[in-house]
Amino acid sequence: MITKKTLQLSLKSLRDFAKKRLADEELIALDERDECPVEVVRYMSSPDKLGIQLLFIPEEYGGMGGSTFDVYLICEQMARIDLGIATSLFATFLGSDPITVGATPEQKKKWLGRIADEGILFAYGATEPEAGSDLGALRTTAERVEKDGRIVGYKINGNKQWISNGGIADAYTVLANTPAGPSWFIVDKGVAGFSQDKPENKHGIRLSNTAALAFSDVCVDADRLVGGVEGQGLLQAQAVFGYTRLMVAAFGLGAGWSALDRAIPYSTTRIQGGAPLSEKQGYTHKLIVPNVVRLEAARACIEEIAERIDAGEGSLNTEGAIAKYMATEAGNQAADASIQALGGYGYTHEYMVEKISRDVRITTIYEGTSEIMEMTIARDRWQSHLKTRGRHYHDEAKKFEALHASHPEVGADVAALACHALAEVMEKARIARLTRYQHVLLRLGELIAFAETAGIFARRAALFADNKANEKSNSRFDAQALAAMSRIFAREAALKVVEQGLRLVVGGSGITDAELPAFENSLGLPAVHRAQAGLISDMDYVADVVYGRAAKHAVAAA
Ligand SMILES: Cc1cc2nc3c(=O)[nH]c(=O)nc-3n(C[C@H](O)[C@H](O)[C@H](O)COP(=O)(O)OP(=O)(O)OC[C@H]3O[C@@H](n4cnc5c(N)ncnc54)[C@H](O)[C@@H]3O)c2cc1C
Repeated sequence: MITKKTLQLSLKSLRDFAKKRLADEELIALDERDECPVEVVRYMSSPDKLGIQLLFIPEEYGGMGGSTFDVYLICEQMARIDLGIATSLFATFLGSDPITVGATPEQKKKWLGRIADEGILFAYGATEPEAGSDLGALRTTAERVEKDGRIVGYKINGNKQWISNGGIADAYTVLANTPAGPSWFIVDKGVAGFSQDKPENKHGIRLSNTAALAFSDVCVDADRLVGGVEGQGLLQAQAVFGYTRLMVAAFGLGAGWSALDRAIPYSTTRIQGGAPLSEKQGYTHKLIVPNVVRLEAARACIEEIAERIDAGEGSLNTEGAIAKYMATEAGNQAADASIQALGGYGYTHEYMVEKISRDVRITTIYEGTSEIMEMTIARDRWQSHLKTRGRHYHDEAKKFEALHASHPEVGADVAALACHALAEVMEKARIARLTRYQHVLLRLGELIAFAETAGIFARRAALFADNKANEKSNSRFDAQALAAMSRIFAREAALKVVEQGLRLVVGGSGITDAELPAFENSLGLPAVHRAQAGLISDMDYVADVVYGRAAKHAVAAA
């Protein structure tokens, strides 16, 4: 187990290394040259240098056996430095996942041991030109090679597309169709028939190497089939989706904060209209505060889910999808708002926010697009709605009402309003069979993600209030600030659920004019509108916390 002290040392050495080796000028130059700094990636992966990958390798194979929570914090920190380099390091982690999950003890010892001891780089080869979101459509094949009636190896043929570390990895995990179904294979670089294309010229994460792979009669021994049993590939991939998506969520969080952490100090020195921008409410309450709130709401999700995975609750795929969706969308919005916050300067390379904005764009695409996340979330929670005969979100709401009774300051009552309304929208959608419209199903995914995040944020804010938060939790904000943010987020979520829910039901012709007033009533529309009271003063407070002016409130309150 990694102690808080060891973790903090790792985070500090990452920051120190970045300061020395990856200053802004260097990152801008590499980005402009579209160059992956392979020596930096190798330095960071080398066990006798930074050895970042040791954190995710289990102790029995020579790693440090970091928890999900530890790895989230490292991923966030890496994304704050550069999302391209973070992606490169993450590719080894992703590439080793099928091995961690499904390999035989000998395979684990060999390959995880090599990552730990030698710092070799891996790539994860799943996507194909014709198989992206729908991995089941993969065409790469692995044909059995038999001798004396025994399988002695496989012959791989096909193509992979958009593979991170594709041109620089030492070894690859490759998904291919065997006679018994999709299976993972470990393929060495340099083996006959295996070639890597030139790096893609990308919109962002230009410091990461992304390349297509081609396999033409590539022969591997039978011991390269992960787990030694064919047909387990998709199950092995799915077994870690909750975890890996949480890490991409941490990327969205880190990149979003890295943009805001440039916009916030900029706004304290930029004078317009006779005063710093940081003192203009029209600026802070549009460009800074809502993004701080959404990012911290996403962090609450990531931290709670990481703890649950570490507590052995399983792979939590739907929850991981919620965290990824919320954090990566929030990261994109924060980066975009940061460009606006810097005005013309934000639009130039020198100020970095435009690079961060291009970089973070990938997080809503790889490891499952936002639309696939919406579908995953909606399908799973739709089942919960059906199984409980519509009670699921009413029951969730009751938990938040109970939380409100003990912690009236964290916005749990408003999270409860969001959940009650969500239950009503889903029930109306069921009766009118609205999920036959894919648009409705995916929009429900969004509403579910917002309502659940509002509840999770309220729970986290209450934990901070009780001094019971994880000792490794990010402690940038105190309990009072988190409570204010949680209230702001809950108001946004509740309003979104009632307004968008109403729009979907009416827009999908799921209701008659005569039924509409009763439905509006069931959504708790007036209560959600009333719950917006206090919004501006909460935003004022969060702005004051962000700009270090919160003491003013304490004095005023006294
Ligand atoms: C820089 C980069 C690095 C990457 N690294 C890796 C890697 O290391 N390993 C790897 O295996 N892959 C990697 N990928 C691939 C990535 O995971 C895929 O690009 C992603 O899963 C989407 O697949 P696609 O590009 O084929 O898009 P598509 O699946 O074709 O999707 C296109 C659009 O259609 C939407 N869509 C898709 N299906 C549906 C549906 N059923 N209903 C409604 N909308 C839908 C999507 O949300 C998206 O908006 C990387 C990609 C990039 C760009």
